[in-house]
This record gives sequence, structure tokens and C-alpha cells, in this order.
Amino acid sequence: MDAVEKISRLADLMVESKKTMVLTGAGISTESGIPDFRGPNGLWNKVDPMFVFSSDTFIYRPEIFYQKGMHLLGALHTASPNAAHHVIADLEKAGLVDAVITQNIDGLHQKAGSRRVYELHGHIRSASCMKCGQMISWEGLEGMVQAGQIPPRHGQCRGVYKPDCVFFGDSLPPEFYDCCQEVSQSGLLLVVGSSLEVSPVNYLPGLCKNLVIINMGETMADHQAVLKIEAMAGETFTALAGVLRERGHFYSRAGQLA
Ligand code: NAD
Repeated sequence: MDAVEKISRLADLMVESKKTMVLTGAGISTESGIPDFRGPNGLWNKVDPMFVFSSDTFIYRPEIFYQKGMHLLGALHTASPNAAHHVIADLEKAGLVDAVITQNIDGLHQKAGSRRVYELHGHIRSASCMKCGQMISWEGLEGMVQAGQIPPRHGQCRGVYKPDCVFFGDSLPPEFYDCCQEVSQSGLLLVVGSSLEVSPVNYLPGLCKNLVIINMGETMADHQAVLKIEAMAGETFTALAGVLRERGHFYSRAGQLA
């Protein structure tokens, strides 16, 4: 099957499916300028994420994250969604996508307008005190760190603030079980920009009826996919939008047939 036939097949599967879920990873955001972990410009080459972003390191030596890791997350705040995020949001409005499950913490699906987003690895909009749970905005957290408070602590109880994202070794939020249920009930799961090396998220492809993978490079579930598209996410979703529009299945952001 050539590239055009693959996009056409994906459009068929989307139209036939009564419930479609999209599972995204760091690869969907590289075209927004955010490096993934394992690509050539990946974060892996700058720090050892398994150490700097590990929950054990954070519990025993929280200053490591605040000195070596926090500034790497700054770029995630200023990034803008790319074509893939926008088309996925439009597909939800057109009724062709039910929900997005993301491993990303960059918030770009919401910025693009996606409404139902499971953020399985949390987000970096806020941090919480590990002792009393009080929340602080990311800007508030940055202000404390810039003022030299490392690690930043809650004024009264003196607990350390931890970003509201999942560190290596943390458990996933309870919504993971809702995701498992939704994926098992779905007709189609689209995996976009993920190597599927991170557990337990990589359990989800095994639950769906039909699996499609859009990823540059191998993933752990390639053998389970009914269709694998080895191409950039942005160009793939732009082409998919074009095909669905030609067939009259796709609506513009204003809610009219485009
Ligand atoms: P990963 O780095 O393991 O895999 C990303 C995959 O996407 C790679 O196979 C890469 O070749 C592919 N890819 C890169 N750019 C692409 C593009 N434009 N189109 C299609 N494919 C592309 O990422 P993962 O599976 O998400 O696992 C890494 C973990 O790191 C996750 O837990 C995630 O939370 C975290 N992370 C998040 C961000 C973010 O929030 N943007 C960034 C880095 C890491």
C-alpha cells in the first residue's frame, strides 16, 4: 500500500468506527518544537530523565529536579499546537474522535481545542504540596525557584511542592482505568508519535478492536496494527483531513461542512 492508499484506508476505518480513541506521545509535539525522549534531539541526550524525573530522586533529593530538570520543562509552556493537534481537535468536533489519551504533559491538545483529554502523565499547569496537598500555579512555583527557594516549600507546613505531573516510579491517575474501559469499547485506537515503551500505557493497544499506528520509527505494538503509517504526524493528519473533507465527513472549526 502506498502513502495515499494508507491515508484512504485510515479514513475508511475512521468513518466505519462507532467509537475512536487517539493515544498520543511525545512524537506528536516534536513539530511544535518540543523534543521527544528518544529522537536525535531527545531530552535523553541532555539529562538522564530516569534519574532527574524519578519519583525516588524527588523524594530524597528534590533539589536535583529543581536544579537540572525544571528549566527543560519551560519550553513546554510557550509551545503552540501543530497541524496534528488541530486536526485531532477538529475530528472530535466532527464526531469522528471520542477522546484523546495523552502521555504528554504539554497541554497542547487542550490549546488546540480538544475537549475530552485524559492526561495520563499529568500536566505542568500547577504543583502540589507533598504534605498538605495545597496547590500552587506553575508561575508561582517558578517565582519561588527564581527567588532561590530550592526546593520550594509551602509557607505553613513546610512540605515540598511537586509538579502535578507523573514522575518515573509514580502510579498513574485513577482515570487510567476509565481509559482501559473506553479503549476496550472502541472500534479504533489511533496511536500517534509514541514508541509505546512506557508502561502501563503500552497495555492500551492490546485492548482495542482495530489499531492504527502513525509513528516515525518502530513501536512495541507494530505487529498488532491493522495499519502502520511511518510518516510525520502533521502531514499525515493534514492529508487525512483533506480526504475526509472530500468525502463530506469533516467539518470546519465554525461547525459547517468545509
Ligand atoms: P518517545 O520519545 O518514546 O517516542 C516518540 C516517538 O515518536 C519516536 O518513535 C519518534 O521517532 C516518533 N516521532 C517523533 N517525531 C514524530 C513526528 N513528528 N511524527 C511522528 N512520529 C514522530 O515518546 P513516548 O512514547 O511518548 O514516551 C516518552 C515519555 O516522555 C512519555 O511518558 C511522555 O510523558 C514523556 N515526554 C513528554 C513530552 C511532552 O509532553 N511533549 C516530551 C518528552 C517526553
